[in-house]
Amino acid sequence: MPHPLSWEGFAMVAKAIVTAIIVFTIAMGARAQETFRVTLLGTGDPQLRVDRFGPATLVEAADQKLLFDAGRGVPVRLAQIRVPPAQLNVLFITHYHSDHVSGIPDLWLTGWLPGGGARTQPFRVIGPTGAKELMANLERAYAADVRIRIADQKLPAEGAAAIAEEFSSDGVGYERNGVRVTAFEVDHGAEIKPAYGYRIDYRGRSVLISGDTRFSENLIRNGNGVDLLVHEVAGSKPELLQNIVIRRILDHHTMPSEAGMVFSRTQPKLAVYSHIGEATDAHRSASDDRGNRGGDTEDVFGSAASGRGLDEFRYY
Ligand SMILES: [Zn+2]
Ligand SMILES: [Zn+2]
Repeated sequence: MPHPLSWEGFAMVAKAIVTAIIVFTIAMGARAQETFRVTLLGTGDPQLRVDRFGPATLVEAADQKLLFDAGRGVPVRLAQIRVPPAQLNVLFITHYHSDHVSGIPDLWLTGWLPGGGARTQPFRVIGPTGAKELMANLERAYAADVRIRIADQKLPAEGAAAIAEEFSSDGVGYERNGVRVTAFEVDHGAEIKPAYGYRIDYRGRSVLISGDTRFSENLIRNGNGVDLLVHEVAGSKPELLQNIVIRRILDHHTMPSEAGMVFSRTQPKLAVYSHIGEATDAHRSASDDRGNRGGDTEDVFGSAASGRGLDEFRYY
């Protein structure tokens, strides 16, 4: 038995440490490869609220970080979970309502700054027809900032570039290292086109993100048996249901009873509501307060989790 302070003892300890580091690194590497984590960064709608930010869902799979929609406050939520915007591989857009895209300039430009991770590669966006126009117009809108920071801070021009890819029908829109993203058309109303949802598959696991939609048969076709279904929902106090403005908004979304039908037909392992407005929250609280867990309209809220910012769903 060598003395703990002898050279032989030191060598043994050093060897043990090196071995431990190798084992730890392999374990970490394997874990990183198997990660499939979904983080609801923003579960709100256009309403200005401090407790729910705009729609944004982060999916981390294998070595990739994919963001779905970029609503209000998304870089702040990313900072909360210590993911610099520069680390995002791709931003996918569901549709072009402002509450789903208003966070893009902040995400894109702050990710280029040292405090946002100092991205040196172009910001990559994939969305239905309209993504190229949106990003080209944002580049025009922020041309002065980009010009100034390249001249003043010597930031690399490549990191401020934006590359947008578009699609116009259902299908696989992205595939890398076993991570597959499939877009499918949803129904957000006659005037709100294009509107898509996304399904992400990795290692036999799957998550479906509805985007904004009314009850959609195409979503049901794509969501059969997924592990996690993140579905939008909209509710209102019964006395406001006849209000024409409220009625028009609700007509573009999924009522709780309809979401219940979606869940019963797709049979996801876990269903989560998102895109939740104040009226919906109030409606949910009211039904929860009554303690109902049956099958009528209000009670559907009792059968699914209500998404909150920073909820995480882990699949290893
Ligand atoms: Zn929306
Ligand atoms: Zn919308």
